[in-house]
Parts: sequence; C-alpha cells; structure tokens
Amino acid sequence: MRFEPEKTLVLVRCYPTEMMMPQIIGWFVQHGLPVEHIHWYTKRFITAATNSAIRDIALPSRAEQIVFIDADMKPDRRTDPFLTADGDVVGATFPVDDMAIWSDPHVAHAGLMRCDRRVLEQMEQPWMDRVFTADGCEVVKCPCLYFSDKARALGFTIRRAGWCGHTTRRQPEGD
Ligand SMILES: [Zn+2]
Repeated sequence: MRFEPEKTLVLVRCYPTEMMMPQIIGWFVQHGLPVEHIHWYTKRFITAATNSAIRDIALPSRAEQIVFIDADMKPDRRTDPFLTADGDVVGATFPVDDMAIWSDPHVAHAGLMRCDRRVLEQMEQPWMDRVFTADGCEVVKCPCLYFSDKARALGFTIRRAGWCGHTTRRQPEGD
C-alpha cells in the first residue's frame, strides 16, 4: 500500500478535549495531504468512537487509505517511514506506559495506524473491540490488537515503521 495523499483520509481521535496537536496537521500537509482530508471525531469509549468513525466517516468517503491518529500524537521527521512503509496495515511505534505492547512486530496500535480500505470492508464488525478474560477481570487484547489479529486472519499484512512522539498521560476514564 503506497501512500497516496490524494486518496488518504485521516481520522483524528480528539476525545475528550476536542483539541489536537498542531503538528498533526502540519506533518500531513507537508506530505501532500489536502487539509480537508483531515477529519476529527470525539466520542467516549475508544471502541465505540473508532467503530463509529469507520462506519460514518471512513467508509462513506472515497478514500482508499485510512489513517487513525490520536490527538496527542506528535509526528515529525522520524515518523516519515510510517508513510512510506508497505503493508495492508502499517503502524508507527510511539511511547506508551507499557512498552511491552511493541514486542510483536506484526501488531499496529491505533494511536497511529494506516490501513487499506479493503481491510475495513472485508472485516466483520466490530472492527475494534476490547477482549477480557472469561471472568471479566483482566484485559486480554486492546481494541487494536483485536483489530490486528482479525486483519491477519483475513490474510492482510501488518507491519510497523517510523517513530512518533506522544504525550503519555493517564487514559481518561472509560477509554
Ligand atoms: Zn492498542
């Protein structure tokens, strides 16, 4: 999946502040993305929010590639390989409280991830979900791990490339 800015839609998750880092717009526009291809959404609960954005913004659009990015990401030069890497799903690596989530190179996390439209079209809904242990006490998969596993099961390739700055902070309640 070659990055084609004219065919790309960016979805910025702006919950709960409804504000985004200014470098998100600057970085994408620098790489040729028309500014009107940047959409934001804000809704509580990451799974419901992202699933709604896919259903209501991404799929009805004519975009062939969708980028998911959290409002507190800070892309710069080091993030550029994320755009040029090949793969049906491509994720960037970014600082998080638990860096162990990066141990599997074939997992993309939705803080910064791009995917081919076909992945969303062919995947059974919900696209994102959080999986708990049978007793409901522990999280087994974050919503993006759930997404990655389903994409892989459909035969899509997943890879990671590029580094993105990120303001690590406590996740808001209900995230
Ligand atoms: Zn994740």
